[in-house]
Amino acid sequence: MNKKFKVGVLGATGMVGQNYLKLLANHPWFEVVYLAASPNSAGKKYTDAVAGRWHMDANIPEACRSMVVEDASNVAKAVEKCSIMFSAVELDKPSIIKLEEEYAARGFAVISNNSAHRATEDVPVMIPEINHTHLDIIPQQRKQRGWQEGLLVVKPNCSIQSYMLPIYALIAAGYPISQMIISTMQAVSGAGYPGVASIDLIDNVMPTLADEEKKSEVEPAKILGKVAGGKIVPDTSIKISAHCNRVAVTDGHVACVSLKFAGKKPELDEVIKIWRGFKSLPQELKLPTAPIPPIIYRDEPDRPQPRKDRDAGNGMAVTVGRLRPCNVFDIRFVGLHHNTNRGAAGGAILTAELLVAKEYIK
Ligand code: NAP
Repeated sequence: MNKKFKVGVLGATGMVGQNYLKLLANHPWFEVVYLAASPNSAGKKYTDAVAGRWHMDANIPEACRSMVVEDASNVAKAVEKCSIMFSAVELDKPSIIKLEEEYAARGFAVISNNSAHRATEDVPVMIPEINHTHLDIIPQQRKQRGWQEGLLVVKPNCSIQSYMLPIYALIAAGYPISQMIISTMQAVSGAGYPGVASIDLIDNVMPTLADEEKKSEVEPAKILGKVAGGKIVPDTSIKISAHCNRVAVTDGHVACVSLKFAGKKPELDEVIKIWRGFKSLPQELKLPTAPIPPIIYRDEPDRPQPRKDRDAGNGMAVTVGRLRPCNVFDIRFVGLHHNTNRGAAGGAILTAELLVAKEYIK
């Protein structure tokens, strides 16, 4: 690529926004040129806007330090400055829907971390290795909404990536699944900053993520669905029961999964072979953020662990372990992914790369 695409970040001062800046700092295709947040940050130099609340383990990228943060609601200001807008604003749902649609209507490719549009029928919920074909809806999305060059795609809740790739690999290999029970242990960074009060979390587990449980049960059906008639028709063939808990881990969501196959069952060694051999379009296209391999199976009895495995594949690979027979269903395993990387900014950047590779962003 001779010329980099100019990109902006809405919610650039927040936890996910900061991750975008960190991950895009040396990106071969994208250059951050536009930062926006709430009216509280607007007009400030980025370093001043995040003073005392820069949470990344890398310094603020040099190119962003003296950029002036804009008010995200001033859509006109961003026009002609960039073509891709990553959205990670914390607002009520109707305001997010209005804001993101306004950017798409003005010609931006909007890739959102927010949940507001995940149930919208013509908006794909992307895990690029699984549902890259859902991007085929974009011409219809543009036609239905009267958008010329703009588009809107979202990424799923950060609770589901640790098991969606492993289960999809099995389905794609010819082993459909009928039922799943999932128990997650989710890191504090998933709640933004300051997130859960330390007095609630230290020496404790918070079993209060009812919202995440609902998303974990609903979003997989859309991701596994098909594009038909100008919308994404969910595949509801898997019955899912989820338990989601917040634990005192900084980054890295863990999921313990038991699953039942709909028909024939693979042997355990075949499951491992399928996971280790899995790859998809992002790997074939050699997208810059695509992890190779996307699924890492570890034989050790005490893996995966957040501290040791969350950065695998630059925080984009899913690490799986402890595969064994299940006494109730067919098999069980433990999955892990980096929630703010694969589960948030990294997953959205991979989606943007796929949009470029498929020429939906020109
Ligand atoms: P956060 O740390 O609280 O950051 C929120 C961002 O939204 C800040 O940049 C804030 O700007 C901006 N904002 C607040 N009010 C605004 C307004 N009225 N207009 C424009 N911008 C406004 O939250 P976060 O953890 O980064 O999460 C952001 C979004 O991503 C949320 O919808 C969240 O559900 C989703 N998400 C988060 C994760 C995760 O791992 N944390 C994962 C997936 C999805 P100021 O600094 O100026 O207030």
